[in-house]
Amino acid sequence: MTETLTHSELVQWLREENPSRLEGLFGWADAVRKEHVGDAVHLRGLIEISNYCSRQCGYCGLRAGNKDLERYRMTADEIVDCAKEAAAYGYGTVVLQAGEDYGIEGEWLADVVRRIKTETPLAVTLSMGERLDEDLVRWREAGADRYLLRFETSDIKLFQLIHPPHPARPPEDRLAILARLRELGYEVGSGVMIGIPGQSYGSLANDLELFHTLDLDMIGVGPYISHPDTPLGDGSWGRPLAPGEQVPNTEAMTYKVVALTRLMCPQANIPSTTALATLNVASGREQGLQRGANVIMPNMTPPKYRALYQIYPAKACISETSGECRVCLQGRIQSIGREVGTGPGGRARG
Ligand code: SAM
Ligand code: SF4
Repeated sequence: MTETLTHSELVQWLREENPSRLEGLFGWADAVRKEHVGDAVHLRGLIEISNYCSRQCGYCGLRAGNKDLERYRMTADEIVDCAKEAAAYGYGTVVLQAGEDYGIEGEWLADVVRRIKTETPLAVTLSMGERLDEDLVRWREAGADRYLLRFETSDIKLFQLIHPPHPARPPEDRLAILARLRELGYEVGSGVMIGIPGQSYGSLANDLELFHTLDLDMIGVGPYISHPDTPLGDGSWGRPLAPGEQVPNTEAMTYKVVALTRLMCPQANIPSTTALATLNVASGREQGLQRGANVIMPNMTPPKYRALYQIYPAKACISETSGECRVCLQGRIQSIGREVGTGPGGRARG
């Protein structure tokens, strides 16, 4: 790792408003991206396998307390069929994501992973929340390659406020889970939301420093998008900051964080996120790719379930079919002079 910035430099960049200095930052991040991970944009097919969730995160529309949401859980055959479709499109990875749904039993998902690994050449990434150690072990043994668990914010007090403990389980330390995932041999991904109510510039700079310390393989950074049916969205939970301290949840701030993430972690796989595309559907994804990102996660969830995976409102691209997503994204990637990556696209080391 070569480029790192100090805490005060990070805060300075996060507060920077001068357009030509910001262009300099974005150009720097883009050059570091090119040097360390090249021009390939890896496509990870995202399959949102269940919107049931046992948690009460204050930010997320899937929280158990949201009684207005119709719930679904995909069948094993539906998931494997989506994975086969992703393989037929030439994607190198599928990401199976869900709420923290204990209706998904460990052995059942292990079997799904084994089927995908036997019937396709895909790498499998899981994003299932804070599951029991025995499940993490079982899924790794079944062949899962990677696991995503964002720490959301490194400010412990803010995290505890927005992410209450599970009603039936002892409080979990997400950093300990990330360390355990690494020990089990997973490639490890984490990340944060940008502009969570109560998130200060100093705390966001700490997040960026923690990405570097954890030496993460994948880092997802996307804007926090308010959902009216959640306690953070309706203002019932909150931690007001002194004037000028709150990080805005804007497109402009997201680009700064993507660029700084690339500078702090040159070799990491960094997606240009759907949340960013939601703020700017016309060109958010492309601009993320031009400011440090090298991954896109096209949605492979069957159309009948897609609108129900409503983490936040007005999510980009919920009405396109998987085939339409693929054509659209390939065109966007080529339009900025980049190429679609081939193979699993694991973390580059060296
Ligand atoms: N349940 C798993 C978990 O929490 O890790 C995986 C699914 S969860 C929906 C995936 C990610 O969505 C979270 O890590 C969080 O960062 C993001 N998310 C949730 N609510 C959001 C919101 N209102 N705006 C932006 N991102 C959000
Ligand atoms: Fe559930 Fe994940 Fe949403 Fe929290 S962020 S409510 S764990 S789906």
